[in-house]
Amino acid sequence: MDFAYTPEEKAFRQELRVWLDPNLRDHRAQWGKDEDEFVQHPSSAASLAWHKRMYEGGWVGLHWPKEYGGRGATLMQQVIFTEECMRLGAPPEVNGMGINMVGPMLMHYGTEEQRRRYLANILSADEIWCQGFSEPGSGSDLASLSTRVVEDGDDFVVTGSKIWTSNAHNAQWCLLLVRTDVQAPKHKGISCLLLDMQSPGISIRPLVQMTGDAEFNQVFFDQVRIPKTQLLGKLNEGWRVAISTLSHERGGIRQFMRLHRMVHMVEDLARQQGKSRDPILRQHLAQLHIDTEILRLTTLRALTKQLRGEPPGPEGSVQKLGFAHTYMRAAQVADSILGPYSQLWKGAPHAVDDGHWAFQSLFSRRYGIAGGTNEIQKNIIGERQLGLPK
Ligand SMILES: Cc1cc2nc3c(=O)[nH]c(=O)nc-3n(C[C@H](O)[C@H](O)[C@H](O)COP(=O)(O)OP(=O)(O)OC[C@H]3O[C@@H](n4cnc5c(N)ncnc54)[C@H](O)[C@@H]3O)c2cc1C
Repeated sequence: MDFAYTPEEKAFRQELRVWLDPNLRDHRAQWGKDEDEFVQHPSSAASLAWHKRMYEGGWVGLHWPKEYGGRGATLMQQVIFTEECMRLGAPPEVNGMGINMVGPMLMHYGTEEQRRRYLANILSADEIWCQGFSEPGSGSDLASLSTRVVEDGDDFVVTGSKIWTSNAHNAQWCLLLVRTDVQAPKHKGISCLLLDMQSPGISIRPLVQMTGDAEFNQVFFDQVRIPKTQLLGKLNEGWRVAISTLSHERGGIRQFMRLHRMVHMVEDLARQQGKSRDPILRQHLAQLHIDTEILRLTTLRALTKQLRGEPPGPEGSVQKLGFAHTYMRAAQVADSILGPYSQLWKGAPHAVDDGHWAFQSLFSRRYGIAGGTNEIQKNIIGERQLGLPK
């Protein structure tokens, strides 16, 4: 593993800092500094304003090839970008689903016409995308999905329901997995469609989470017609698209940096509350620190493999599991620092950091589920890493 940065990488970091520091200051002067804003309201005016600023500065779609409006950045430049943004707590771009998952899938599996139609609007966030994969009966076992399609002339006609669809209420488009062949083995009868969310027959029901936000939804399809030109990849080969999409969702430096920031904020909280000499709390903080460092090294190991062009292995599951456990524990440590004050919500008198910790205490639970549950990650590690029987 090589820990040193090349002169080009150092220059890239410097160029980014010169842009990022004043722009973030300016954005915050206008919109305030709300660490939770993006996750609570991913398409709010403040989030969009930051996105547009990054877009105009040429910092959105770093990993996209230049011909599609990206920057053609190397993997290390992407790492540096993430490190710098997370270090300052900069909000992420809007339309993460579109930029990080749908865009690369369109480049890989899409027709030239589909690329021309969709890619530019994904980068600019003029069209927001959501991911219609999970169903009420198919989450961990995604390949059992049952949203049905029948062919009718030039259209597919879709009937069924998707659930936990993040941001569907703000999205113009959806990357939708459907069953196109009920006779084939379950992985082989699935196709991937590009769905216009304004199509007749779609209804969206918000799902209110325990944080009080309704960030995701159940989406119902009642004979929704989708032109056959909206097929992404080949008919009945949607599983391949789904797996490539999900490989963009798990793990990575972003996850590590999110945890790193959270743990630092908890350490600051302990100092700010005059608790940093409490012997039991110090043990918890030290353990958080150790676990974060282990995750950093695991993340770097995975990155080294990527840089060598080796295929990703089960270390993605180790990262995801380590991240989820440590993040949730960090939120619990914050609760124990603040005691009953940890439950005071935004706007309440005496709420610490304007209710950030009450929010985190509930919000952090999502990480044990989203992007593949902890139990599923353990299965993967057990079977593929440790060679245990199924
Ligand atoms: C914040 C958040 C955002 C999300 N956004 C989206 C989105 O935009 N689009 C989308 O399609 N989906 C989304 N999801 C859904 C997510 O992918 C699923 O919730 C996840 O895959 C688990 O599926 P499930 O909820 O159906 O649980 P199930 O699969 O029903 O699992 C229920 C429980 O059983 C356990 N379990 C299941 N199978 C096994 C097994 N074989 N061995 C051991 N234990 C098992 C699970 O670990 C879990 O504890 C989101 C979820 C969250 C939390």
